[in-house]
Amino acid sequence: MNTPDPSLIETLVAVRGNAYAPYSRHPVGAVVVAESGRHYAGANVEVAHYKGLCAEASAIAAMVGAGERRLREVWVIGPGEHLCTPCGDCRQRIREFADEHTRIRVVDAEGRLLKDYSMEALLPDAFGPENLT
Ligand SMILES: [Zn+2]
Repeated sequence: MNTPDPSLIETLVAVRGNAYAPYSRHPVGAVVVAESGRHYAGANVEVAHYKGLCAEASAIAAMVGAGERRLREVWVIGPGEHLCTPCGDCRQRIREFADEHTRIRVVDAEGRLLKDYSMEALLPDAFGPENLT
């Protein structure tokens, strides 16, 4: 799927609008599609000591809180035309709940698809849960 679903983009834009980013002024929204097909949205949440929560982490927390453990898709929207890719910490967090079919997609501020990554492309040779067994 290369054409973003308009309702998913609407959700991305809306959740980005709810971001709490008074320090960076860089609002980000994320929607994760879980194995069930349900969508979970998250926005970045900054705090005064600068250790805020990224949008992707926020969306994944909502998914896990609902009892789901597997990511089918991760969608990310930033405030501008440039790529707003998941940070290193989020790549590892996505990896925790990803499999070889998981897609990570980044759209521009208007919702146009900029990049579509596999987990392996986003975080090659990643350390994951199976490394601990
Ligand atoms: Zn992040």
